Order: sequence, then C-alpha cells, then structure tokens
Amino acid sequence: MLDRISHYKSLCAELGLSDVPQSYVGGAFVTGDGATIALEDPFSRSVLAEYPDCGAEVANRACTASDAAQKVWMRDFTAAARGVVMQKIAALVDERHETLAQVEAVVSGKPIRDCRVEVAKVSEIFRYYAGYTDKLHGQVIPVPSGHLNYTIREPLGVIFQITPWNAPMFTAGWQIAPAMACGNGVVLKPSELTPVTSIALAAICEEAGTPKGLINVLAGLGPTAGEASIAHDATRKVVFVGSPATGRVVATSAGKALKPVVLELGGKSANIVFEDADLEAACKGAQAAIFATAGQSCVAGSRLLVQASIKDQFMDMVAAGMGQLRVGDPLDDATEIGPISNRRQFDHVTAMVDQAAKDGAKVLTGTSDETDALIVPPTILADLPPEADAAQTEIFGPVVTALSFEDEAEAVRIANSTDFGLAGAVWTNNVSLAHRMAANVRAGTFWVNGYKAIHVSTPFGGSRSSGFGRSSGMDVLMEYTEPKSVWVETAEVPRVAFGYAPSE
Ligand code: NAD
Repeated sequence: MLDRISHYKSLCAELGLSDVPQSYVGGAFVTGDGATIALEDPFSRSVLAEYPDCGAEVANRACTASDAAQKVWMRDFTAAARGVVMQKIAALVDERHETLAQVEAVVSGKPIRDCRVEVAKVSEIFRYYAGYTDKLHGQVIPVPSGHLNYTIREPLGVIFQITPWNAPMFTAGWQIAPAMACGNGVVLKPSELTPVTSIALAAICEEAGTPKGLINVLAGLGPTAGEASIAHDATRKVVFVGSPATGRVVATSAGKALKPVVLELGGKSANIVFEDADLEAACKGAQAAIFATAGQSCVAGSRLLVQASIKDQFMDMVAAGMGQLRVGDPLDDATEIGPISNRRQFDHVTAMVDQAAKDGAKVLTGTSDETDALIVPPTILADLPPEADAAQTEIFGPVVTALSFEDEAEAVRIANSTDFGLAGAVWTNNVSLAHRMAANVRAGTFWVNGYKAIHVSTPFGGSRSSGFGRSSGMDVLMEYTEPKSVWVETAEVPRVAFGYAPSE
C-alpha cells in the first residue's frame, strides 16, 4: 500500500498548504492554540496530522475580516466582475482537480472515483452561480398612485456556514458559491475531521481575486469556533449542514442571538419498489441508493420498501448483487465502497447493526478482506417492523432496512412514518402511480425510476428533522439576499399624511 502519510504531505505541498491544517483568515494561514485534533486516514488508520483547534479568538477575527472584505466585494467590484472572479475559481479548481480529489480520498476515505466527481461538481457550482452575479435585481412594484416603489436586493453581510465530513469539498462549494454570488462574505467551519479541501478552496478563491478575508475557513471545533462565530455581531445568517442533534444546538444558539438559520440535516429516505417495476433497474438503483459512498450520504435510500408480492425475489437480487460490489482501498480506481470516514461513525454504524440483530433483524452482509480499515461491508437488515429503531434512526452507513408493503396506501404510510423529510424514490411503470407517490411522500427531493440525481440548478433541502430552507437552485438566492423596499413620493404636491398614506 502507498505510504499514506508521505502521499498526504506531498498533496498538501502541491496545493500550497501546510500538512498541519491551519485556518484561512483574512487572507493568511493562522494556527490556533486549542485542543489537539487528529486527522486519521480511515483506511490505513495512519494519523496524517495533529493540529490545534483554532478557538474562539481566531473565529472572531475571521468574522471581522469577512465583514470588512464583504464591503469591498460590493463596493469595488461590479456585479459582472464578481462573476468573472467566480469563473476563475472554477478554472483553478479544474486545474487542481486530481490533487484535490486525492487529498479528499485520503482524509475522508471516500473512493477516489466519487471524489473526482465531487471536485468536478465544485467547479460546475461556481460557474452556475457566476452567471447570477449580474442578474440579481429588485423590482418596481405597482403601488397606488402618487408613489414609486421599488426594491433593492441586498446581500446580508457575513454568512457563517458549518459543514460535515461526508462530502467536504462538494459541500463547501455548494454553500460558498451562492453566498458570494449574492454579495456576501463567508466564514466556513468544516468538520474538524476533514478540513483540508475546504481550506484549499478558500485559498483558491483569493488566488482568483476575491478581496482578502471574503472567504475564511476555520480549522476547529463546533463548541469553540462554531459558537463564537454564531454569536459574532457581523454574522447575519447561519447555515448548518449536519446531524439533527447538532442542528438543534446550532439553531438554539442562533435563536438566542436572533440570527436566521438554514438547516440541512439527516434523512431516512424511502426507496419504494412496486411489483410492476423494471426489477433489474430497481435493484441497481437500490444498491446505488444505499451502498455508494458507504451509505454516508444524507439522501441515502436507507429504507427499502418492496411490495410484498415480489419481496423475496427482489431481496434475493439485491443480496446477490451486494456480493459483487468492490469494497476496499479508496485510492484504488476500482473501489466502489470505502471505509466509514471516522471512528466515531464506525462505532455508531456497528452498534446500530448489533442492536438491530438483538431486536430480531435478520442480518445479511457482504464481505471485505480488510481487517484494519474502518470498513463496514454492505448490509441488509430484514424482518424488522417499520417502527423498529433501525428503521427510524439515521444509520449513515452501508446498511439498508428492508420493509414490505401490500398496496399504495401502505407504502405511503410507511414512507411517511419517520420524522424525516429529505428524499425518496419510487420504481414503477405506472405513470399515474409514480406521480401520486411524488405528491404524497414527504420529501424535499423525489426520484421516479432513479436515485440520487442531483444538480446545483434545482432546489435541495428537507422538512421536519431533515431541516428547513433550501441550499441550491434559484431558491437559495432568496436565502442569501433580502429585499429593501424604497418609497418615493411622485405627486406634484406631496401629500404628507398624518398616519397611513392615502391609498387610492
Ligand atoms: P455533526 O452534526 O456531528 O457535525 C456537523 C458540523 O457541526 C461539524 O462541522 C461539527 O464540528 C459542527 N458542530 C458540532 N457542534 C457544534 C456546535 N455546538 N456549534 C457549531 N457547530 C458545531 O454531523 P456529522 O457527523 O459531521 O455529519 C453527518 C450528518 O450530516 C448526518 O446526519 C447527515 O445526514 C448530515 N448531512 C446532511 C446533508 C444535507 O444536505 N441535508 C448533507 C450532508 C450531511
């Protein structure tokens, strides 16, 4: 096996980064002095680096720097010039595509083939929002005569974004690009377990021409760097991507400081297969939905609902296919399933499977030859009722709970029986049934005869324990701007009313 530590160090050097993660604040790399954080490669289990939490003081500096730079971004750059800078960011990401993908694979354990796709999506996201910088404008509203009313669409100021470890650079790009296109500054706190590509992205933004401090990245922990950034006076909005438990903590802190929040949380998405479906396609879709990226995806199809009449036949197909999936080294081009990204998550996934077995689940697993890596082979939990813990709680690993239903009404009832509302899918050849399912299953994203198609141009988000607000498409532009309403008296003799203005 490649020497992972040397490989990691040379990738960092190629990106112009220290191999000991540092925050990027006000256009400079900054080392904190807080508690030690270890970066562990989840495949080789090598400790790649140890670094100090940046702490509250560095977070405060980042918010102040972003506030100052945001004003420069809006004052000294035309709207079109902001778009040109964003196009350049995309070009620089493309130029460093393979290095960024490699470092992501080593640090997060995600298969290199997935990392390559995610890094390519980052440049796509910047190009998409680059096109909006000079197309964001207000409106003239037809108010009663004697007045002109128009709106100006203004940026909010500094946006504080918190991201998880499962798709670090993709999520950083997904969050930063629309915020800066709308004229905001950003302080981003990636997961302390996978900060490297987010730091690289912030440095790339400045290389492309953003004012120093517009985009800052904190290499630090939630309770220190996160809480300080939420509380900072310059922070105007908090965007959190992560677990429902931490989302509650973040929303509470933001609420105390009267800051609006967007929450992109977890899911327990239902992937529903009717007896008339193309079963070959549905089987491939079911495997991709839960086993790709070792199930560490918020939209993973973690509940497989199969019509009772085809349940045994279909689950035999899924189990047979499970044995063919290539589990192993994330740096191997052929690997389809890598390790669980970190020890804490590995312990959670294995504990959930053990508990499901104690609760009566029949556990079917694929195989893996790796002994040291944090690998969980693809796993099916069968014979559990829909209300069992393993069918209700997000496992966030390559573990699918197989459930069955008799008819459409029961499928909808089971699909909507968790507290989540992020994604879902149906497999059927009945077009009317497909549209009824799309209407009736609670989900922010729903697929018909497919799974996981996702694109920056379409809104993404959830409801209930999956969060609220939208983080892509045109909808996110409303999250990152606010309208100012301007009234002008146009009557020759202004009618200054004592109380409400006349409204004829
Ligand atoms: P997590 O909630 O443990 O951590 C997420 C982030 O919150 C990390 O950066 C962490 O450092 C930070 N954090 C922790 N405590 C904090 C505090 N007090 N204040 C501020 N920040 C704090 O989540 P995770 O384990 O990193 O990621 C997995 C979860 O993310 C899963 O539930 C998954 O479904 C969810 N997720 C959701 C989406 C989506 O778009 N809906 C996308 C990816 C992942």
